Amino acid sequence: MADELARLRTIADYQFGHSAGNALFAGDPVVRHTATGRPEQVFAAGERLVTYGVDGRFTLGLAGGERLRGAFDAPQVRVMVGEESAPFVREGKNAFSKFVQGVDPGVRPGGGTVSILPAPPNTAAASDQQYMWLVPEKSMMLDIDFPSDEPRFVDTHAHQPTSEFLEDAGGEMMRDAAGKFGTDLETWGFDEMVEEYHEVGVRHAVLLGWDAETNTGNPPVTSEYVAEVRDEYPDFFTGFAGVDPLKEDCVESAERAIEDLDLSGFKFQQIAQGFDPSAPEHDPLWKTIEDLGVPVVFHGGNSTLGAGSPGGRGLRIEHGNPMLIDDVAARFPDLQILLAHPAFPWEKEQLAICQQKGNVHMDLSGWLPKYIDDQVLHYAGTILQDKVMFGTDYPMIRPEELLESFAEHTDYPEEVERKLLWENAEAFLGL
Ligand SMILES: [Zn+2]
Repeated sequence: MADELARLRTIADYQFGHSAGNALFAGDPVVRHTATGRPEQVFAAGERLVTYGVDGRFTLGLAGGERLRGAFDAPQVRVMVGEESAPFVREGKNAFSKFVQGVDPGVRPGGGTVSILPAPPNTAAASDQQYMWLVPEKSMMLDIDFPSDEPRFVDTHAHQPTSEFLEDAGGEMMRDAAGKFGTDLETWGFDEMVEEYHEVGVRHAVLLGWDAETNTGNPPVTSEYVAEVRDEYPDFFTGFAGVDPLKEDCVESAERAIEDLDLSGFKFQQIAQGFDPSAPEHDPLWKTIEDLGVPVVFHGGNSTLGAGSPGGRGLRIEHGNPMLIDDVAARFPDLQILLAHPAFPWEKEQLAICQQKGNVHMDLSGWLPKYIDDQVLHYAGTILQDKVMFGTDYPMIRPEELLESFAEHTDYPEEVERKLLWENAEAFLGL
Protein backbone atom coordinates (compact mmCIF):
# COMPACT_ATOMS: atom_id res chain seq x y z
CA MET A 1 0.00 0.00 0.00
CA ALA A 2 1.61 3.20 -1.20
CA ASP A 3 -0.18 5.33 1.40
CA GLU A 4 1.01 3.19 4.22
CA LEU A 5 4.65 3.35 3.15
CA ALA A 6 4.36 7.12 2.80
CA ARG A 7 3.16 7.30 6.41
CA LEU A 8 5.94 5.04 7.61
CA ARG A 9 8.50 7.21 5.81
CA THR A 10 7.10 10.32 7.48
CA ILE A 11 7.51 8.74 10.89
CA ALA A 12 11.07 7.70 10.07
CA ASP A 13 11.91 11.23 8.91
CA TYR A 14 10.63 12.56 12.17
CA GLN A 15 12.31 10.00 14.35
CA PHE A 16 15.70 9.69 12.61
CA GLY A 17 16.02 12.85 10.60
CA HIS A 18 15.16 14.31 7.23
CA SER A 19 15.18 11.79 4.32
CA ALA A 20 15.64 8.86 6.72
CA GLY A 21 12.30 7.48 5.52
CA ASN A 22 13.44 7.18 1.92
CA ALA A 23 16.71 5.55 2.95
CA LEU A 24 15.12 3.16 5.40
CA PHE A 25 12.24 2.05 3.21
CA ALA A 26 13.89 2.21 -0.20
CA GLY A 27 12.87 -0.33 -2.83
CA ASP A 28 9.80 -2.35 -2.17
CA PRO A 29 9.83 -3.38 1.49
CA VAL A 30 7.29 -5.79 2.91
CA VAL A 31 5.07 -4.57 5.73
CA ARG A 32 3.76 -7.17 8.16
CA HIS A 33 0.62 -6.33 10.07
CA THR A 34 -1.00 -7.20 13.35
CA ALA A 35 -4.31 -9.05 13.32
CA THR A 36 -6.05 -5.68 13.39
CA GLY A 37 -4.22 -4.39 10.33
CA ARG A 38 -1.75 -2.09 12.04
CA PRO A 39 1.82 -2.12 10.69
CA GLU A 40 4.04 -4.21 12.97
CA GLN A 41 7.33 -4.86 11.20
CA VAL A 42 8.94 -3.91 7.90
CA PHE A 43 11.23 -6.32 6.07
CA ALA A 44 13.49 -6.13 3.02
CA ALA A 45 15.01 -9.24 1.47
CA GLY A 46 13.84 -11.23 4.46
CA GLU A 47 15.65 -9.01 6.96
CA ARG A 48 13.91 -6.86 9.52
CA LEU A 49 14.30 -3.13 8.96
CA VAL A 50 12.17 -1.92 11.85
CA THR A 51 9.53 -2.86 14.35
CA TYR A 52 6.78 -0.28 14.76
CA GLY A 53 5.95 -0.05 18.45
CA VAL A 54 2.53 0.61 19.94
CA ASP A 55 4.00 3.89 21.21
CA GLY A 56 4.39 5.06 17.61
CA ARG A 57 8.19 4.68 17.43
CA PHE A 58 10.41 2.45 15.40
CA THR A 59 12.96 0.12 16.88
CA LEU A 60 15.67 -0.49 14.33
CA GLY A 61 16.64 -3.95 13.18
CA LEU A 62 20.22 -4.59 12.09
CA ALA A 63 19.31 -4.25 8.39
CA GLY A 64 17.45 -1.01 9.09
CA GLY A 65 20.38 0.36 11.02
CA GLU A 66 22.74 -0.42 8.17
CA ARG A 67 20.49 1.40 5.74
CA LEU A 68 20.37 4.49 7.93
CA ARG A 69 24.10 4.41 8.57
CA GLY A 70 24.71 4.27 4.83
CA ALA A 71 22.40 7.19 4.22
CA PHE A 72 23.88 9.71 6.61
CA ASP A 73 27.47 10.91 6.58
CA ALA A 74 27.03 12.64 9.87
CA PRO A 75 23.75 11.84 11.50
CA GLN A 76 22.48 14.53 13.79
CA VAL A 77 21.31 12.39 16.65
CA ARG A 78 23.71 9.47 16.94
CA VAL A 79 25.40 8.36 20.12
CA MET A 80 28.39 6.01 20.12
CA VAL A 81 28.87 3.75 23.10
CA GLY A 82 31.48 1.09 23.85
CA GLU A 83 30.58 -2.53 23.33
CA GLU A 84 30.70 -3.20 27.07
CA SER A 85 27.25 -1.60 27.22
CA ALA A 86 25.79 -4.12 24.78
CA PRO A 87 24.60 -6.67 27.38
CA PHE A 88 22.64 -3.97 29.22
CA VAL A 89 21.04 -2.61 26.11
CA ARG A 90 20.23 -6.04 24.79
CA GLU A 91 18.19 -6.66 27.93
CA GLY A 92 16.31 -3.44 27.36
CA LYS A 93 18.19 -1.53 30.06
CA ASN A 94 19.76 1.87 29.65
CA ALA A 95 23.33 2.34 28.54
CA PHE A 96 25.40 4.06 31.22
CA SER A 97 26.78 7.44 30.34
CA LYS A 98 30.30 6.22 31.16
CA PHE A 99 30.13 4.00 28.06
CA VAL A 100 29.47 6.91 25.74
CA GLN A 101 32.44 7.48 23.45
CA GLY A 102 31.03 10.22 21.28
CA VAL A 103 27.86 11.97 20.22
CA ASP A 104 26.72 13.75 17.12
CA PRO A 105 26.42 17.53 17.32
CA GLY A 106 22.60 17.51 17.36
CA VAL A 107 22.34 15.58 20.62
CA ARG A 108 21.24 17.59 23.66
CA PRO A 109 21.13 16.31 27.22
CA GLY A 110 17.66 15.31 28.32
CA GLY A 111 16.42 15.34 24.77
CA GLY A 112 15.07 11.85 24.61
CA THR A 113 15.53 8.18 25.16
CA VAL A 114 17.96 6.06 23.22
CA SER A 115 17.63 2.90 21.19
CA ILE A 116 20.54 0.69 20.28
CA LEU A 117 21.91 0.24 16.81
CA PRO A 118 24.68 -2.34 16.62
CA ALA A 119 27.56 -1.29 14.42
CA PRO A 120 27.75 -3.02 11.06
CA PRO A 121 30.22 -5.90 11.29
CA ASN A 122 32.38 -4.92 8.32
CA THR A 123 33.39 -1.49 9.48
CA ALA A 124 36.37 -0.35 11.46
CA ALA A 125 34.11 0.63 14.27
CA ALA A 126 32.68 -2.82 14.66
CA SER A 127 35.18 -4.07 17.19
CA ASP A 128 34.60 -1.52 19.88
CA GLN A 129 31.54 0.57 19.22
CA GLN A 130 27.79 0.40 19.29
CA TYR A 131 25.72 3.10 17.65
CA MET A 132 22.60 4.39 19.22
CA TRP A 133 19.97 6.74 17.96
CA LEU A 134 18.32 9.29 20.09
CA VAL A 135 14.56 8.91 19.96
CA PRO A 136 12.29 11.84 20.75
CA GLU A 137 10.10 11.58 23.81
CA LYS A 138 6.62 10.27 23.23
CA SER A 139 5.05 13.70 23.54
CA MET A 140 7.05 14.79 20.53
CA MET A 141 5.94 11.89 18.36
CA LEU A 142 3.69 12.39 15.38
CA ASP A 143 0.16 11.22 15.83
CA ILE A 144 -0.32 9.36 12.59
CA ASP A 145 -3.41 7.27 12.03
CA PHE A 146 -3.05 4.14 9.98
CA PRO A 147 -6.08 3.01 8.08
CA SER A 148 -7.07 -0.25 9.60
CA ASP A 149 -9.14 -3.09 8.28
CA GLU A 150 -10.64 -3.45 11.70
CA PRO A 151 -14.32 -2.50 11.60
CA ARG A 152 -15.25 0.63 13.46
CA PHE A 153 -19.03 0.54 13.24
CA VAL A 154 -20.95 3.69 14.11
CA ASP A 155 -24.50 3.34 15.41
CA THR A 156 -26.53 6.41 14.41
CA HIS A 157 -29.52 5.54 16.57
CA ALA A 158 -29.31 4.47 20.21
CA HIS A 159 -31.69 5.05 23.11
CA GLN A 160 -30.97 4.61 26.80
CA PRO A 161 -31.40 1.11 28.27
CA THR A 162 -32.33 2.80 31.55
CA SER A 163 -35.69 3.47 33.21
CA GLU A 164 -35.45 7.15 32.20
CA PHE A 165 -36.23 6.17 28.61
CA LEU A 166 -37.90 2.78 28.74
CA GLU A 167 -40.22 3.35 31.70
CA ASP A 168 -40.56 7.08 32.37
CA ALA A 169 -40.53 8.58 28.86
CA GLY A 170 -41.80 5.40 27.22
CA GLY A 171 -44.74 4.77 29.52
CA GLU A 172 -47.65 2.66 28.31
CA MET A 173 -46.91 3.09 24.62
CA MET A 174 -43.48 1.50 25.23
CA ARG A 175 -45.03 -1.42 27.13
CA ASP A 176 -47.35 -1.93 24.15
CA ALA A 177 -44.35 -2.05 21.82
CA ALA A 178 -42.47 -4.51 24.04
CA GLY A 179 -45.56 -6.69 24.30
CA LYS A 180 -45.84 -6.71 20.53
CA PHE A 181 -42.39 -8.29 20.30
CA GLY A 182 -42.98 -10.54 23.31
CA THR A 183 -40.15 -8.97 25.32
CA ASP A 184 -39.96 -7.73 28.89
CA LEU A 185 -38.96 -4.18 29.62
CA GLU A 186 -35.62 -4.89 31.25
CA THR A 187 -33.29 -2.04 32.10
CA TRP A 188 -29.51 -1.92 32.53
CA GLY A 189 -26.69 0.61 32.78
CA PHE A 190 -24.36 2.42 30.41
CA ASP A 191 -21.24 0.46 31.39
CA GLU A 192 -22.93 -2.70 30.19
CA MET A 193 -24.22 -0.94 27.10
CA VAL A 194 -20.81 0.39 26.05
CA GLU A 195 -19.16 -2.96 26.75
CA GLU A 196 -21.77 -4.76 24.67
CA TYR A 197 -21.03 -2.43 21.76
CA HIS A 198 -17.27 -2.74 22.08
CA GLU A 199 -17.50 -6.51 22.02
CA VAL A 200 -18.90 -6.46 18.49
CA GLY A 201 -16.68 -3.69 17.11
CA VAL A 202 -19.02 -0.70 17.41
CA ARG A 203 -16.79 2.18 18.40
CA HIS A 204 -19.28 5.04 18.47
CA ALA A 205 -23.00 5.63 18.94
CA VAL A 206 -25.42 8.54 18.78
CA LEU A 207 -27.38 8.70 22.03
CA LEU A 208 -30.78 10.28 21.53
CA GLY A 209 -32.80 12.51 23.81
CA TRP A 210 -36.60 12.37 23.88
CA ASP A 211 -39.31 14.85 24.77
CA ALA A 212 -42.91 13.97 23.89
CA GLU A 213 -44.29 15.41 27.11
CA THR A 214 -47.03 17.58 25.61
CA ASN A 215 -48.50 14.80 23.50
CA THR A 216 -48.04 11.84 25.86
CA GLY A 217 -47.85 13.37 29.34
CA ASN A 218 -44.67 11.36 29.98
CA PRO A 219 -41.51 13.05 31.30
CA PRO A 220 -38.67 13.66 28.81
CA VAL A 221 -35.21 12.14 28.50
CA THR A 222 -33.65 15.54 29.03
CA SER A 223 -30.76 17.12 27.19
CA GLU A 224 -28.97 17.44 30.55
CA TYR A 225 -29.20 13.68 31.04
CA VAL A 226 -27.91 12.97 27.53
CA ALA A 227 -25.02 15.41 28.06
CA GLU A 228 -24.18 13.81 31.40
CA VAL A 229 -23.94 10.34 29.86
CA ARG A 230 -21.97 11.72 26.91
CA ASP A 231 -19.51 13.32 29.36
CA GLU A 232 -18.98 9.97 31.07
CA TYR A 233 -18.15 8.25 27.76
CA PRO A 234 -16.98 11.12 25.56
CA ASP A 235 -15.19 8.87 23.08
CA PHE A 236 -18.13 6.57 22.65
CA PHE A 237 -21.23 8.77 22.60
CA THR A 238 -22.33 11.67 20.47
CA GLY A 239 -25.35 13.25 22.17
CA PHE A 240 -28.45 14.43 20.29
CA ALA A 241 -31.10 16.47 22.12
CA GLY A 242 -34.79 15.71 22.23
CA VAL A 243 -36.89 18.89 22.07
CA ASP A 244 -40.69 19.00 22.24
CA PRO A 245 -41.87 21.16 19.29
CA LEU A 246 -45.21 21.67 21.02
CA LYS A 247 -43.60 23.46 23.97
CA GLU A 248 -43.47 27.23 23.80
CA ASP A 249 -39.80 27.41 24.73
CA CYS A 250 -38.68 24.81 22.17
CA VAL A 251 -36.42 27.23 20.30
CA GLU A 252 -34.65 28.29 23.51
CA SER A 253 -34.33 24.63 24.56
CA ALA A 254 -32.74 23.85 21.21
CA GLU A 255 -30.23 26.67 21.52
CA ARG A 256 -29.37 25.69 25.10
CA ALA A 257 -28.77 22.05 24.10
CA ILE A 258 -26.11 23.04 21.59
CA GLU A 259 -24.62 26.20 23.07
CA ASP A 260 -24.65 25.34 26.78
CA LEU A 261 -24.64 21.54 26.85
CA ASP A 262 -22.51 21.05 23.76
CA LEU A 263 -24.80 18.42 22.29
CA SER A 264 -24.29 17.65 18.61
CA GLY A 265 -27.73 17.47 16.99
CA PHE A 266 -31.42 16.75 17.48
CA LYS A 267 -33.84 13.85 17.33
CA PHE A 268 -37.58 14.13 16.69
CA GLN A 269 -40.16 11.38 16.85
CA GLN A 270 -43.10 13.01 15.11
CA ILE A 271 -45.57 10.21 15.91
CA ALA A 272 -44.95 10.16 19.66
CA GLN A 273 -44.56 13.93 19.74
CA GLY A 274 -47.80 14.34 17.78
CA PHE A 275 -46.85 16.99 15.27
CA ASP A 276 -46.65 17.57 11.53
CA PRO A 277 -43.08 18.72 10.80
CA SER A 278 -44.18 20.49 7.61
CA ALA A 279 -46.61 22.78 9.47
CA PRO A 280 -45.42 26.40 9.27
CA GLU A 281 -45.59 26.94 13.06
CA HIS A 282 -42.48 24.75 13.38
CA ASP A 283 -40.42 26.78 10.90
CA PRO A 284 -38.69 28.86 13.61
CA LEU A 285 -37.39 25.64 15.17
CA TRP A 286 -36.03 24.30 11.87
CA LYS A 287 -34.52 27.69 11.08
CA THR A 288 -32.83 27.75 14.48
CA ILE A 289 -31.37 24.27 14.01
CA GLU A 290 -30.26 25.14 10.49
CA ASP A 291 -28.50 28.22 11.87
CA LEU A 292 -26.92 26.21 14.69
CA GLY A 293 -25.36 24.10 11.94
CA VAL A 294 -26.06 20.72 13.52
CA PRO A 295 -27.80 17.67 12.02
CA VAL A 296 -31.28 16.49 12.86
CA VAL A 297 -32.75 12.99 12.99
CA PHE A 298 -36.43 12.61 12.07
CA HIS A 299 -38.34 9.43 12.63
CA GLY A 300 -39.27 7.70 9.37
CA GLY A 301 -42.31 5.46 8.84
CA ASN A 302 -44.62 3.56 11.12
CA SER A 303 -44.01 3.13 14.84
CA THR A 304 -44.58 0.21 17.17
CA LEU A 305 -45.22 2.58 20.07
CA GLY A 306 -48.79 1.96 21.21
CA ALA A 307 -49.09 -1.05 18.90
CA GLY A 308 -52.15 -3.21 19.48
CA SER A 309 -53.81 -0.88 21.98
CA PRO A 310 -57.21 0.68 21.23
CA GLY A 311 -56.62 3.62 18.92
CA GLY A 312 -52.87 2.97 19.16
CA ARG A 313 -52.88 5.25 22.26
CA GLY A 314 -54.03 8.06 20.02
CA LEU A 315 -50.75 8.19 18.09
CA ARG A 316 -51.05 8.99 14.36
CA ILE A 317 -48.64 7.21 12.06
CA GLU A 318 -49.25 9.74 9.26
CA HIS A 319 -46.80 12.04 11.12
CA GLY A 320 -44.07 9.53 10.22
CA ASN A 321 -44.61 9.97 6.49
CA PRO A 322 -41.25 11.05 5.03
CA MET A 323 -43.03 13.27 2.48
CA LEU A 324 -43.58 15.72 5.35
CA ILE A 325 -39.80 15.86 5.71
CA ASP A 326 -39.36 16.39 1.97
CA ASP A 327 -41.16 19.68 2.51
CA VAL A 328 -38.90 20.68 5.42
CA ALA A 329 -35.79 19.70 3.43
CA ALA A 330 -36.89 21.81 0.45
CA ARG A 331 -37.44 24.92 2.55
CA PHE A 332 -34.32 24.50 4.75
CA PRO A 333 -31.65 23.37 2.28
CA ASP A 334 -28.81 23.75 4.77
CA LEU A 335 -30.52 21.58 7.36
CA GLN A 336 -28.74 18.20 7.35
CA ILE A 337 -31.43 15.57 7.84
CA LEU A 338 -31.21 11.90 8.72
CA LEU A 339 -34.43 9.97 8.15
CA ALA A 340 -34.25 7.20 10.71
CA HIS A 341 -35.36 3.66 9.85
CA PRO A 342 -36.56 2.18 6.58
CA ALA A 343 -39.77 4.25 6.47
CA PHE A 344 -42.32 1.43 6.19
CA PRO A 345 -44.80 1.67 4.46
CA TRP A 346 -43.29 4.64 2.62
CA GLU A 347 -39.88 3.27 1.71
CA LYS A 348 -40.24 4.27 -1.95
CA GLU A 349 -41.00 7.86 -0.98
CA GLN A 350 -38.01 7.83 1.35
CA LEU A 351 -35.68 6.51 -1.38
CA ALA A 352 -36.95 9.16 -3.79
CA ILE A 353 -36.35 11.94 -1.26
CA CYS A 354 -32.85 10.73 -0.38
CA GLN A 355 -32.06 10.55 -4.07
CA GLN A 356 -33.39 14.00 -4.88
CA LYS A 357 -32.51 16.04 -1.77
CA GLY A 358 -28.80 16.49 -1.18
CA ASN A 359 -29.44 17.28 2.49
CA VAL A 360 -31.47 14.13 3.29
CA HIS A 361 -29.87 10.86 4.40
CA MET A 362 -31.27 7.71 5.96
CA ASP A 363 -30.32 4.88 8.27
CA LEU A 364 -31.30 1.22 8.53
CA SER A 365 -32.06 1.30 12.25
CA GLY A 366 -35.03 -0.37 13.90
CA TRP A 367 -35.18 -3.26 11.44
CA LEU A 368 -33.19 -6.46 11.16
CA PRO A 369 -31.92 -6.55 7.57
CA LYS A 370 -33.81 -9.79 6.94
CA TYR A 371 -37.06 -7.81 7.24
CA ILE A 372 -35.96 -4.77 5.22
CA ASP A 373 -37.56 -4.26 1.81
CA ASP A 374 -35.29 -5.54 -1.01
CA GLN A 375 -35.49 -2.25 -2.86
CA VAL A 376 -34.10 -0.39 0.17
CA LEU A 377 -31.18 -2.81 0.43
CA HIS A 378 -30.59 -2.50 -3.30
CA TYR A 379 -30.54 1.32 -3.22
CA ALA A 380 -28.28 1.23 -0.15
CA GLY A 381 -25.70 -0.68 -2.19
CA THR A 382 -25.99 1.43 -5.34
CA ILE A 383 -27.18 5.01 -5.86
CA LEU A 384 -27.59 5.74 -2.15
CA GLN A 385 -24.37 4.09 -1.00
CA ASP A 386 -23.02 7.45 0.20
CA LYS A 387 -26.19 8.34 2.12
CA VAL A 388 -27.31 5.26 4.03
CA MET A 389 -26.04 4.54 7.54
CA PHE A 390 -26.10 1.78 10.08
CA GLY A 391 -28.15 2.12 13.26
CA THR A 392 -29.71 -0.21 15.79
CA ASP A 393 -32.52 1.49 17.76
CA TYR A 394 -30.90 0.14 20.94
CA PRO A 395 -32.07 -1.36 23.27
CA MET A 396 -34.99 -2.59 21.16
CA ILE A 397 -32.50 -4.07 18.69
CA ARG A 398 -29.07 -5.13 19.91
CA PRO A 399 -25.91 -4.52 17.87
CA GLU A 400 -24.86 -8.16 17.71
CA GLU A 401 -28.13 -9.47 16.29
CA LEU A 402 -28.31 -6.61 13.82
CA LEU A 403 -24.75 -7.10 12.56
CA GLU A 404 -25.31 -10.84 12.27
CA SER A 405 -28.46 -10.29 10.23
CA PHE A 406 -26.62 -7.73 8.11
CA ALA A 407 -23.83 -10.21 7.36
CA GLU A 408 -26.27 -12.96 6.55
CA HIS A 409 -28.77 -11.04 4.41
CA THR A 410 -26.65 -8.55 2.51
CA ASP A 411 -23.84 -9.07 0.05
CA TYR A 412 -22.23 -5.68 -0.60
CA PRO A 413 -18.70 -5.17 -1.91
CA GLU A 414 -16.32 -4.38 0.94
CA GLU A 415 -15.99 -0.68 0.11
CA VAL A 416 -19.78 -0.28 0.15
CA GLU A 417 -20.02 -2.11 3.45
CA ARG A 418 -17.47 0.27 4.97
CA LYS A 419 -19.54 3.24 3.81
CA LEU A 420 -22.78 1.87 5.18
CA LEU A 421 -21.40 0.63 8.48
CA TRP A 422 -19.20 3.58 9.47
CA GLU A 423 -17.78 5.89 6.81
CA ASN A 424 -21.04 7.65 5.91
CA ALA A 425 -21.87 8.18 9.58
CA GLU A 426 -18.36 9.49 10.30
CA ALA A 427 -18.82 12.03 7.52
CA PHE A 428 -22.36 12.96 8.56
CA LEU A 429 -21.45 13.37 12.23
CA GLY A 430 -18.06 14.93 11.58
CA LEU A 431 -16.28 12.28 13.66
ZN1 LIG B 1 -35.60 5.03 17.98
